[in-house]
Amino acid sequence: MPELFIDGTWRDARRSGFRTIRCPADETPVTTVSEAEPPDTVAAIGAARRAFDDGRWSRRSAADRCAVLSRTAELLARDHDRYARAESLDTGKRLVESQQDLDDVIAVFRHYAAVGVDDGDRRVDAGGTGVISRVVREPVGVCGLITPWNYPLLQASWKVAPCLAAGNTIVLKPSELTPSTAVLLMRTLAEAGVPDGVANLVLGAGPNTGAVLAEHPDVDLISFTGGSITGRRVMALASGTVKRIALELGGKNPNIIFADADLDTALDFALTAAFLHSGQVCSAGTRLLLEESIAAEFTDRLVERAERIRLGGPFDPEAQAGPLISSAHRERVEAYVAAGLAEGAGLRCGGVRPKDPELAAGFYYRPTVLDRCRAGMTVVREESFGPVITVETFGGTSDHDREEAAIAAANDSIYGLAGAVWTSDDARAQRLASRLRLGTVWINDYHPYLPGAEWGGFKQSGIGRELGPAGLDEYVELKHVWHNLDPRPQHLFGS
Ligand code: NDP
Repeated sequence: MPELFIDGTWRDARRSGFRTIRCPADETPVTTVSEAEPPDTVAAIGAARRAFDDGRWSRRSAADRCAVLSRTAELLARDHDRYARAESLDTGKRLVESQQDLDDVIAVFRHYAAVGVDDGDRRVDAGGTGVISRVVREPVGVCGLITPWNYPLLQASWKVAPCLAAGNTIVLKPSELTPSTAVLLMRTLAEAGVPDGVANLVLGAGPNTGAVLAEHPDVDLISFTGGSITGRRVMALASGTVKRIALELGGKNPNIIFADADLDTALDFALTAAFLHSGQVCSAGTRLLLEESIAAEFTDRLVERAERIRLGGPFDPEAQAGPLISSAHRERVEAYVAAGLAEGAGLRCGGVRPKDPELAAGFYYRPTVLDRCRAGMTVVREESFGPVITVETFGGTSDHDREEAAIAAANDSIYGLAGAVWTSDDARAQRLASRLRLGTVWINDYHPYLPGAEWGGFKQSGIGRELGPAGLDEYVELKHVWHNLDPRPQHLFGS
């Protein structure tokens, strides 16, 4: 099937490379897609460039563009089931999670449709009457949007909705493992009224697609979500043409539990924090930091619950967690657990593939809890991106010391994406919220986010923000227009 969408037309890759997408739950074929070569990506960039330069989208009013986004949200709601099933088949995630993702995607389109972009101008006092000085907001231009496999459509929507709202044109490149909902999204955008050439899609391997986008001089901005190593590569490629760049690179997120917390609720959320989508979440709370006095009992109860988690495929209503995305990724997770054990961690549960023969064809891995962990261990420092909780403890002889120990441990990371603090002491919760070097801090909760609140990371978790006003500003250029109403010679030179 032709699956490259370029200039409003579906076409095959020039050399017609194909990839069969298989469901990670049992490796059944889902679809076959055409994969781009660099010339296909260049063609998509050319289409986006022409569409931007002739103003077919950028010069429409912000209200017009928002109406198209609003229509997109309606069409996504109409096709909710189709999207959710496609997402589950590509990723292996439970249908109920894909349905929730779809709700979130629709909310993001609605949000940017409602907020729009301010296409008025801001007057600046130039200190006299003979000048009008104003700052206007304009689209950046052609945007290369590169997205990962864990939340394929959701991550795309965080980029596509604000990017289009601001009047840019797009080349979207989803993960080669999970292209189906990106294909559907192109159809939906076209049906909603996005003009030909404004939204383009290239499928294929990173080096043939994402790297070409990052390097190409006609791409003005790259917004990337994925792993740190690829992110650094994309940043280096984009530096050759000094592109605007936004990076969302994941994290190693602390979930801090004080002894005065509601421990039953904290326990329940500790499982959700770490095992949602089998830990394949950039904000997964896999780094559990427990106050010493509660650590032993809390860990025992955590292990007991983790051992009861039912694994299963996307359409198994009994399943609580699905497979990992690929065989290679499961091997990476296994290597992290092995490294943790070699460095002195204790295996409390999991650490194995499930024995159930019904799951043998999928890339399943048992929810795993490692205790006796320390900040220096590889499995604590690096993002395993799997269902692996590491348990560390913090202590001290006073409340103040314990609080300082928790903050120091949580901040001892190259990452700074998200994390949570559980306590019944509101003042302490606020002190931690202000001291944790994280882009999102949850107090007595884990995982919620809002389309209107910025999402992104401190430190090596990324550059820039998605969602909220700042998530729109990523796609906006500011221009200062100085209008001299009464120009006269200055005679500064040669007179
Ligand atoms: P990658 O960073 O490799 O993939 C993210 C996107 O970048 C994909 O679309 C990928 O394409 C693309 N890409 C790959 N190589 C290049 C390149 N040279 N230039 C431009 N784009 C490129 O993540 P993976 O999917 O391999 O996962 C690796 C690790 O990244 C995970 O183990 C996890 O730690 C982290 N990760 C973090 C996510 C987050 O939300 N923060 C999401 C996913 C992963 P393709 O798929 O075709 O290779």
